[in-house]
Amino acid sequence: MVVIIAGAGIAGTALALPLHEAGIQVTVREAHPESSADAGAFLTLAENGMRALTQLGADGPVTAASAPLLRMRVSSADGTQLATAPLGEPGGPGYRYLTRARLCAVLQHEVQARGIEIRRGERLVGFEPDPCGVTAVFADGSRARGDVLVGADGLRSTVRGLLDPAAAPPRYVGQRVFYGYSPDPAIAGEPGTLQFVRGAAAFGYIVTRQAGTWWFARVTAEELGRDRIAAGPTDGWKDQLTALLRDDPGLLAIVRGTERVLVTDAYDLANVRTWHRDRTIVIGDAAHAASPATGQGASMALEDAVALAGALRDEADPAAAFAVYEELRRERVEANTAASASMSART
Ligand SMILES: Cc1cc2nc3c(=O)[nH]c(=O)nc-3n(C[C@H](O)[C@H](O)[C@H](O)COP(=O)(O)OP(=O)(O)OC[C@H]3O[C@@H](n4cnc5c(N)ncnc54)[C@H](O)[C@@H]3O)c2cc1C
Repeated sequence: MVVIIAGAGIAGTALALPLHEAGIQVTVREAHPESSADAGAFLTLAENGMRALTQLGADGPVTAASAPLLRMRVSSADGTQLATAPLGEPGGPGYRYLTRARLCAVLQHEVQARGIEIRRGERLVGFEPDPCGVTAVFADGSRARGDVLVGADGLRSTVRGLLDPAAAPPRYVGQRVFYGYSPDPAIAGEPGTLQFVRGAAAFGYIVTRQAGTWWFARVTAEELGRDRIAAGPTDGWKDQLTALLRDDPGLLAIVRGTERVLVTDAYDLANVRTWHRDRTIVIGDAAHAASPATGQGASMALEDAVALAGALRDEADPAAAFAVYEELRRERVEANTAASASMSART
């Protein structure tokens, strides 16, 4: 069997590993010519994501590239501690954090180290099914034929739109997310602690062992849109956020100590009705995406990879594999999207 994966993000790279392990021929085609993720956002890998990485045989390099997250603390704007909870089950793999770019880079390195090809600068623009396979068509006019095509091409998936041209677009959840890294020891904090502050913004931060701070702030506001985000200006985002945080000197110091404040709109994508047709399927954010509140997007993408690889390995044909995959995954990912939407609405 030959599998073509469009997208070398988290889901696409993760899927390539167990397919290769099962003796399935796989190539990954990535639209971006160099790397595929911005460097500014950190993400948390929950225990289910770490378990999936273990099943993929990639827990070692990801653990080496990340740091542990041991507990979560919630406080109010006036500094009152509202809750402290350990993260993870006793004896479990624990939670970890790293940047999204680093996670992608580690997984891409792992893919290539196992002899799987990642072809960069290949943007999928179409596909043509035939009775025994599918031909993927790329923006540069090149074509590749395989038995299965997997769209792991993220929130704005081309493959999802081709599978169902009437598919609803991602929904703006009413929040923009500012984020960045301050290298200054701007605020006291215990490394390994995800600290949430419920104030004018839903602010989360992690103080690192080097006393730098990874942070994000979710703010209720109208949608910016991709053009305004791409245009910046980044200083404008910083001013906007510092105005909002003016009554909290600690959080202000974190934001002021950040050279590049980045921003993104938060979206979700629920109940995508068509995940697969003929020989083509979508996984990861291309099939389902939760708003950032539950911090499960990457972990869900990793679980998707484990489930689809197992189904393609064990079932007689792609149609049976896709059916098994959907049965395994739909309820779980949609529950997460709904839980994240209701958390976003409350913060
Ligand atoms: C600010 C922010 C914070 C987040 N925090 C967390 C967190 O704490 N924990 C967590 O688990 N998740 C978090 N997430 C979500 C997480 O990053 C996503 O759920 C995850 O990246 C989804 O992986 P994916 O592989 O499906 O998509 P992506 O990682 O987006 O990868 C898609 C890939 O496909 C490529 N591509 C796109 N179109 C094409 C095409 N036509 N042809 C070929 N390639 C294509 C892209 O370049 C990209 O490399 C966060 C997201 C954001 C934006």
